[in-house]
Order: sequence, then C-alpha cells, then structure tokens
Amino acid sequence: MKKHNFSAGPAILPQSVMQEAAQACIEFNGMGMSLLEISHRSKQFDAVEAEARALVHEIGGFDDRFAVLFLSGGASTQFALAPMNLLKDGEKAAYVDTGVWASKAIKEAKLFGNVEVLASSKEANYNYIPKGYHLPYDVAYLHLTSNNTIYGTQLHEFPKSPVPIVCDMSSDMFSRPFDVEQFGLIYAGAQKNIGPAGVTVVIVRKDLIGRSERKLPSMFDYKLHMENGSMYNTPPVFPLYVTMLTLRWLKEQGGLNAIQKHNEEKAAILYNEIDANPLFKGTVAVEDRSLMNVCFLPTNPAHEEPFMVAAKAAGIDGIKGHRSVGGFRASIYNAMPQSSVQVLVDVMREFAKQHG
Ligand SMILES: *Cc1c(COP(=O)(O)O)cnc(C)c1O
Repeated sequence: MKKHNFSAGPAILPQSVMQEAAQACIEFNGMGMSLLEISHRSKQFDAVEAEARALVHEIGGFDDRFAVLFLSGGASTQFALAPMNLLKDGEKAAYVDTGVWASKAIKEAKLFGNVEVLASSKEANYNYIPKGYHLPYDVAYLHLTSNNTIYGTQLHEFPKSPVPIVCDMSSDMFSRPFDVEQFGLIYAGAQKNIGPAGVTVVIVRKDLIGRSERKLPSMFDYKLHMENGSMYNTPPVFPLYVTMLTLRWLKEQGGLNAIQKHNEEKAAILYNEIDANPLFKGTVAVEDRSLMNVCFLPTNPAHEEPFMVAAKAAGIDGIKGHRSVGGFRASIYNAMPQSSVQVLVDVMREFAKQHG
C-alpha cells in the first residue's frame, strides 16, 4: 500500500516526478542509455541544467542580477561557503538564532569573521521566532533561516533589512512567493521541498560574489561555479534532473501563488484539528506556525505510543517528532496532497473518540 509520507526530509515528491525519474534511469530521452550513464557534458544533460536554472529564475522571479548554482554538499556546506565568499576577514555578519540549523550556520561563520547574534529563542527551545530586534547597518549581511524544520516555526514576514539577507530556505524554498529584492544569497538543500538529496540550490547576487576578497579553494568559490555553469566538476546529475522535474511540476501547478494557497489550506486543516481536539496541542507560538512542518504533542504523554500505532495502521509514515521536541511532526511540503492531511486528521478524530 502506498504510504502517506509525512517525513521531514528527504521528503515526499510528486508521484509523476518519481515515475518520470524512474523511466530516465532505464532510458533517457531516447538516447538508448540511462541518465545515470551519460556524460554531464552531453547536450542532453546540458539542456537539463539549463532548464532547471531557467525554472528557478522564472518561478522565483530572479532576474539576471542573480546567479543560480546547483552544488553538492548540502545546506550544511553553505553554512561555511556563505561567509567564506561574502564576509571579509575581521568584518561582522548578523545572525538570528532560531534553531539547530541556524546555530550551526553561526558556528561556521565564526571561522571566517565576527558574528553578532541579534536574537535567539533558544531559552524557549526555539518555539517562537524572535522579532523586534535591532537591524544593524554595519554588517556584511543578515543571515536568517526562513523555516525551522525541527521546531515547526516559520518566518512569515522577512524583516526590512538595510543589508542583503542571506537565507537558509532549505525547508520552505518555493512553498510561497517572496520579494527577491532583499536577498543577497539563498540556499536550500533540495531534499525537503524541491527535489531529492544530493543537490543544493544556491541563488546568489552576482555583485556580492568575491566580496570577501579571500583566496578560496576552487570548489568553495561561487565565482568559479558561476563561470562554469555549475559544471566545474561533475554536478549531481540525477538529483539535478529530479529537481528539474519537480520545478516543472511546480510550474504546472501554477507556481508560487497557487502552491501557497494549497499549502495554506493543508496547514489550516491540520492546525484546526490540533486546536479543536482535546487530545493534542501545538508546540509553537501560533503566529509563527510553519506551513511546512506541523509539530504537536499529545496532551497525555501516555497517548503517544497508541497514536503512533493508530497512525501507522492508516498508512501514515514519518510523523515521529524530532528528539529535541518529542511528540509528532507532520511535514506537509508542496507535494503532499490535501487528501493525505485529511487521513491524518481523521485518525486524530477517531483517536479522540476512542481515548477521549
Ligand atoms: C535539513 C536542513 C539543513 C541541512 O541540510 P543538509 O542538506 O542535510 O546539509 C539545513 N537547514 C535547514 C533549515 C534544514 O531543514
């Protein structure tokens, strides 16, 4: 039986994308060969990279002031590459600490410059997004994490920053429209919302590339990747292809405005049930609730096990909460159909009838 996949990442992808990707593994594009065995320098793969890049520009509204790169190493590598490329020795960058991923980004940035942590919600186990902090002018950039996958908080409004924003969008990239003007650099490990593990999407304002004036190893240098169209070395061919297919799918869905509406509807169904059902409670500040990762606890801890059993029986997979929060986390990324969210809600209602 096909499961309802609520995994936080690697995560659900559209069924049609997986079918096409599977076919490409057998034979790609009438070439008489699998996508897995063709050269990344072939014209057929060149077209895949070009289409993926064009789709990122088009869907996100990034004009040619921005370079779109497809790199490997995950978002975790970008924690270091961002300051390496953008932050001069002895210069300061501002960070907001909204969770484990943000604090890892802070740790890496400290290797390359001075870090000012503007605000943190660590004292409350990151169950809200700090707001109203002072935005400094004398920093190279402001680093934010738009969606905190582990805790289920999301930045619903980006602060009006006087300096370029560098943003880890790993878990909500292309889940909603956003104004590109404020951003200097956006990065996302594809495996949460826009593709499979193995490729990282990096969108960087060209005039910021080389800003650090630092000598960098080739593979760490955005300039080199830009000049070589992400083909300085062998790019992650298959993950990039599947990401391209997912972006095509997203465009067919109507792009960011349409997917936002879809995501808002799904999240509303689930949060409404959490608020109405006496056996469950949300874990984060209501105004900061994520539309991507919905975290909730049983009001009675003894219900955790039996609810997991009931969910599993209904074909629900991947809702165990992260160990630092506990309870449940339902990740409902772009490709999650509303019908699967409804299955989860039905299980919660039935559970309340039997255990309430
Ligand atoms: C998963 C995640 C990361 C880490 O991504 P990797 O690709 O595994 O390095 C970083 N930031 C956020 C917000 C994430 O959700």
